[in-house]
Amino acid sequence: MVRLAQEDGAVEIHVTGIVQGVGFRPHVYKSAISLGLKGWVINTTAGVTIRLEGPAQKITKFMEDLRKSPPPLSQIETFAVRDVGLEGFSAFFIHESQNAADTDISIPPDVGTCPDCLREYRDPTDRRSGYPFINCVNCGPRFSITRAAPYDRKNTSMHVFEMCDDCIAEYIDPMDRRFHAEPNACPVCGPKLTLTLPDGSPLEGDLRGLLKEGRVLAIKGIGGYHLACDALNTGAVRLLRERKRRHGKPFALMCRDLETVRGHCELSPEEEKLLASPARPILLLKRKPASPLCEETAPGLDTLGMMLPYTPLHYGLFDEDLSILVMTSANISGDPLIISEEDAYTHLGELADAFVIHNREIVNRADDSVAMIFRDKPYLLRRARGFVPHGVKLPFSLSAVFAAGGDLKSVFAYAGKDKAILSQYFGDLDNLRNLDAYQDGVRFFRDFLKIRPERVVCDLHPDYASAGFTERYAEELGVPLVKVQHHKAHFASAMADNGLNEKVLGVICDGTGFGEDSSIWGFELFYGDYSDIKRVGSLTPFPQPRGDSVVKNPLHMAAVLLCALWEDKDKVLDALPGSVGLLPYTKAQASSNTLSIASSSCGRLFDAAAALCGFTGKVTYEGEAAMRMESLAHQVADADPYGYDILEDDILRLSWGFIGEMAEDRLSGTKPPVLAARFHQTVSASICDLVERLAAGYETDKVVFSGGTFQNRFVISTLAEKLLDMGIKAYFHHQVPTNDGGLALGQVVIAASRAEK
Ligand code: ZN
Ligand code: ZN
Ligand code: FE
Repeated sequence: MVRLAQEDGAVEIHVTGIVQGVGFRPHVYKSAISLGLKGWVINTTAGVTIRLEGPAQKITKFMEDLRKSPPPLSQIETFAVRDVGLEGFSAFFIHESQNAADTDISIPPDVGTCPDCLREYRDPTDRRSGYPFINCVNCGPRFSITRAAPYDRKNTSMHVFEMCDDCIAEYIDPMDRRFHAEPNACPVCGPKLTLTLPDGSPLEGDLRGLLKEGRVLAIKGIGGYHLACDALNTGAVRLLRERKRRHGKPFALMCRDLETVRGHCELSPEEEKLLASPARPILLLKRKPASPLCEETAPGLDTLGMMLPYTPLHYGLFDEDLSILVMTSANISGDPLIISEEDAYTHLGELADAFVIHNREIVNRADDSVAMIFRDKPYLLRRARGFVPHGVKLPFSLSAVFAAGGDLKSVFAYAGKDKAILSQYFGDLDNLRNLDAYQDGVRFFRDFLKIRPERVVCDLHPDYASAGFTERYAEELGVPLVKVQHHKAHFASAMADNGLNEKVLGVICDGTGFGEDSSIWGFELFYGDYSDIKRVGSLTPFPQPRGDSVVKNPLHMAAVLLCALWEDKDKVLDALPGSVGLLPYTKAQASSNTLSIASSSCGRLFDAAAALCGFTGKVTYEGEAAMRMESLAHQVADADPYGYDILEDDILRLSWGFIGEMAEDRLSGTKPPVLAARFHQTVSASICDLVERLAAGYETDKVVFSGGTFQNRFVISTLAEKLLDMGIKAYFHHQVPTNDGGLALGQVVIAASRAEK
């Protein structure tokens, strides 16, 4: 046997991506030690640098292993290797960070319980067996417990818990999974769980027992409180709905495991992966007809919002008899998610029968994120816990910007260099408590990013609270304020989300936005890039009654549209029998510029169509009418679109007259699911037609899609299919929401591009 000579080599490896605050250095350390390699590893401003010395084969093996199985939470973007000279290191070292004042994001998002921690939780012999706050370097609370940068225990709400000797030993051992795991804790030294009555007095008994009795529990989680009950107990679900006075909005559900999810919903491999991912979002899934959940869980919808447990505490809520729980955010009518015990007892006292609290303070509120899978990729609808404050990479570098976002589903952003950091979701800012939380958030992010914006940007809408706030912020900073039209921000957001930096077409279908001509926009086509966006198409304006009440009343919108189309009042009444009381007003509103405002809102068009499909009640949450109509449309496999006209005016104008044809269709006795499917097909077909004409005219095959309407699965899936056949490259959102939660990203890139000019 010939023994091959093994020569010692030396290399330096530079890795970038998400490689800090994710246990990368200990991972490298362990791997190097196990292979007998020497050298060091260090965090730098631009990533992680590794120096290795030892047998060439071992070095190769090290690199293979690191690329193949990096630490679970890391994401390697680049991996550069160069040969260097031998220095003769005596061992392998973890060096302290080269630049402590690193301005890059040092706070990771909250991470769902990892398999190792779950194993310990379930192991009766482990010292943390059954401990609800188990975590390690691969999982646990992060953003939600952090007060300031850098992400160190002393800057988190864990600082009040002094680690015991066993925990310290883990914390300082580079070979241990809890090496520098900042929230490290155990039953001896860490946070404790308490079960109480609504008056705060201790309660003997067990959580699961209460749930099985049909009780409602207020449970303190990672980013806020939930209200929970057994989802299979119809009485409990109804009770919770009554107490919460939440009539239509679907409840989020938490399942014991993937198998349980599969019992209620269809589940693709991509959906499975996202459900179980470290971010553990709520995923919108197609409900199986066999699911025994009661109608009150998600009234009128064919989807369910499902998530998996993401803290050890959650795992403790399930057993063989408890497989699925309602886990709805604990807040009162549009107020911020509750995070403190004080607020919980004050506001949830009459909603919950018992409280599951603990003494680890929630510093940053973070709602559960909501997503779905579209074209095999995550499609975020609400970006909060598990994603914030991860940055979104920008298609170009810029100087520091603050972007306010919008007033609905509000999210702001700070951006600098080639990254935008989007805040968590703050809900609607017409609620003053939400506005307070939003403003606190702006200050928190400014401090932890140590950023001083050189310009600030907000929506063009004169009445937005976020715009008012931004005007004051600009004054305070003494920097220019930029205003960006709502749908142009949507357009730029979809471009940036897809890393585009060239002239493209865009289709924005949305609820309401303030237009540049002071009318309401919402179904807009654009052509351009970040610095120059031209409106090239739109829905023909229709009369939208002034004021907010029409937004809550789809029947009202439908009656106005039909009155504008038809002279014959009786015919309107036949098509919309419930509108009898409205007609005297709608007739006037349909023909008056003082009572109505010109609008091309896609959301209102969907509302009107939903009323024709039988949704004639008041909407109880944004998008309710459209969501219910969509659920009807999915019942019909094939449907023909209505006829529609596109006028070539100064810009292309899609006529909304097909609403009249839809009403005629209803009058002839066509059933709501068919009406709904035909309406959806009309929207998709007309968008494709508009795109085809514009793509030919502007000689581009790239089209971005943004706006709240594209939360509609029926519309996006039919569109994607048709556009593929047409040879159009369609870009939908995937990192930030297509609704107003993604607006701030678009504002950032537009404001930065205007500065360049
Ligand atoms: Zn873990
Ligand atoms: Zn301990
Ligand atoms: Fe919008």
